[in-house]
Parts: sequence; structure tokens; C-alpha cells
Amino acid sequence: MIVELLVIGNEILIGKTQDTNSNYMAKRITKYGHKIRRITAVGDELEEISNAMREAINRKPDLIIVCGGLGPTFDDMTLQGIAQALNTELELNQHAYDSIKRRYEAAYERGILKLDGMTKEREKMAYLPKGSTPLPNERGTAPGVKIKEGDTLIFCLPGVPMEMKSMFKIVIIPILKEKKGKFMEKSFFFTGIGESQIAPYVTEVEEKYPKLWIKTHPRLGEYGAEIEVSITAFNVENAEELADKVIDELKEIVIHLDGKIKES
Ligand code: ATP
Repeated sequence: MIVELLVIGNEILIGKTQDTNSNYMAKRITKYGHKIRRITAVGDELEEISNAMREAINRKPDLIIVCGGLGPTFDDMTLQGIAQALNTELELNQHAYDSIKRRYEAAYERGILKLDGMTKEREKMAYLPKGSTPLPNERGTAPGVKIKEGDTLIFCLPGVPMEMKSMFKIVIIPILKEKKGKFMEKSFFFTGIGESQIAPYVTEVEEKYPKLWIKTHPRLGEYGAEIEVSITAFNVENAEELADKVIDELKEIVIHLDGKIKES
């Protein structure tokens, strides 16, 4: 599947919160052989959210995962932005309303919260874009949301990492497994020659193996500068075999240029 992530929150744009949610999701989505095409982050602004959403929908990915801004405060505008992008409206979802109400009642009875009953803010979380399905939030109160738009499935998950992870495991992982693709990654490290020196050779090898993505990553290792060569492929027949050939060819080039292969 082709996947896009849309992360929402002013705190991410100002650097107050590090966006670990999209990293968490990207790792898992990739592991199951799906391709993240884009990760977008926007603030809690209606127009920003709806524009970003509209643009994502127009690119027709199989899956869009939106994360953050589902909470009770009126600056949590994710669902309103999505409704606007889908040319629809928010409407009270009775199922979501009942589950939110039950959650608050239980928290009040256990003495966790002092305010009983539904308030405007609590009710707000039960307003979902028309035609969407609420997803239970096992770790919080704001329900997640599932919407189908053409061939694209849209999921909205809460921003609180614990809540997002729980919903991701329950709702998203089964879909990733069901439509599982094949992702392959292999790599090796070398030292002694620079990235720019090997670059023309990498380009040549890449042209020979167009289905593989070959990338060099410089980093500071234990003994100074070292370069990682990583080879990745999505849904390629014999990917492992091809990657082994590429690794052999590139290692030969490194040695020929007087570099040193780092033993793993
Ligand atoms: P809830 O519905 O549970 O209130 P929410 O969907 O409204 O959640 P936000 O208000 O967007 O969530 O975020 C709540 C908190 O979660 C943020 O203050 C921040 O600490 C954390 N958070 C939000 N987005 C991210 C992210 N992308 N990566 C890591 N942490 C995040």
C-alpha cells in the first residue's frame, strides 16, 4: 500500500513536542512492506488541516493516517478540517457519545475526575465527519475515526503517544498485515574514502539495478567518519539475491579505491 501520514499540532511546529508518533508508525508501516510516500506536519488551523488533507486525498494513496488534535478543546480541529476537506460536516455520533459518556462516568466514580457528566468540551469529541466510524480509544477518551473516501482509507488517531500506539496496534497493524508487501533492507559500512568519491560508482550500480534503492549515509563512527551503504526494496522479486550482488560489487569498488570494509 501507498501510505501518507498527516501529523497535526502547533506544539510540533514550534519544537515543543518532538514528533515521535510518525517515526513509530513509519517504522512499522515500512516493516510490513508498505511505502510511506509523504509525512506532513501542520498546525491546529482549520485551513491548514483541510488543505493538507485535500492534497493528500488528491494524491490517491491507499491509506492516510492522521494523528493528533482529537481532544476536547476547541483548538483541536482535526475532524473539522477533515470534514471540510471531504465537503461534509461534523455530526453527533451516538456510539461515540455513549462511549465518551461511559468513560467519564467511570473516571468520576473512581474519583479520577471531579467533574461528572457531559460538558460541551466532552461532547465535542463525539462530533465526527458524516459517514465515519468511531474507533474505541482503550487508553483515553477521544475516539479515533475511520472514513473511506473513494479507494482511500482514512484513519484519525489521537496524538497522545500511548493512545496512538494502542489504537495503531488494534486497528492499523491488522490492515498492514492483511495487505502485507515485502520490504528488504541490507547494508554494509566502509571507511577510508568519502561519500563523494564513491558516488559515481553508486550511480552506475543503481542504473544496473533500477528496482533497488541504493543510498549512502555518512556518520561519525567509533574510529572517525564512516559510510553506510544501504540497499532497500519494496515488493521486488529476488530482492535479497540482487542486494547481495550489489553489495559484492560495491565492496569490490571500495577496496579498489583503497577504502576499508567494516566487518559487521
Ligand atoms: P487526546 O484526544 O487524548 O486529548 P489529541 O488527539 O487531542 O489527544 P493532541 O492534543 O494533539 O492529542 O496531543 C496531546 C499530546 O500528545 C501533546 O501535547 C504531545 O505531548 C503529544 N503528542 C501529540 N502529537 C505528538 C506526536 N506527533 N509525537 C509525539 N507526541 C505527540
